[in-house]
Amino acid sequence: MVFIGKKTALCVVAATLVFSFACLGVFAVVRTAASSCTPLGAVIVIDAGHGGFDGGVVGVSGTKESELNLSIAMCLGEMLEADGAAVVYTRTDDNALSDIKREDMKKRAEIIRNSRADCVISIHLNSYRDKSRRGVQVFYDDTGKGESFASFMQEKLNAAINYKYSKRTDLAPQPGDFYITKCSSSPSLIIECGFISNAEDEALLKTEAFRRELCREIADAIILAVA
Ligand SMILES: [Zn+2]
Repeated sequence: MVFIGKKTALCVVAATLVFSFACLGVFAVVRTAASSCTPLGAVIVIDAGHGGFDGGVVGVSGTKESELNLSIAMCLGEMLEADGAAVVYTRTDDNALSDIKREDMKKRAEIIRNSRADCVISIHLNSYRDKSRRGVQVFYDDTGKGESFASFMQEKLNAAINYKYSKRTDLAPQPGDFYITKCSSSPSLIIECGFISNAEDEALLKTEAFRRELCREIADAIILAVA
């Protein structure tokens, strides 16, 4: 689950126009051919959601979202580093960046701003009252920034993960007013890596093999987009 930013209607309309023109060009055309190059020089920020006092949502068997977010974030980062990217993490241990949520989010924003990131990936897990709900879903900023990248990422995850494990191919990327996607002018995605309110998704996410499979798909999509 993610931290929602403040929304002011007029500002959002203005920001939509500005960001649409300023940022869509960066990722307007996502490469679809197999890439033999690595994102040398590309800076990727990986944000493991929550941490410390803020455990995020809790799974059906008691798993803390913050712990799985960190495992996924570190796995993804290691793969991207092996592929030649410069990875900046917002956290690399179980601690939050502050004991106060607002300060924690401000520090994440500061890291993102200072990184001059080519893209930002925030890792989260979902929870829903309908415990049958499953799958990996991608979210992007409601200004439209990162929309094409989000669509590309979601299609890849639908084909490689969601269909394979839950026979779902209908998950669509969703825009939203998220604090973390507004910290950089570069495409910024939130990836909700599954529903820990669903016993099967939670069990999968607790295995290293599944996390590595998921991270490989996410990393490949990032490499194709920024290489
Ligand atoms: Zn979350």
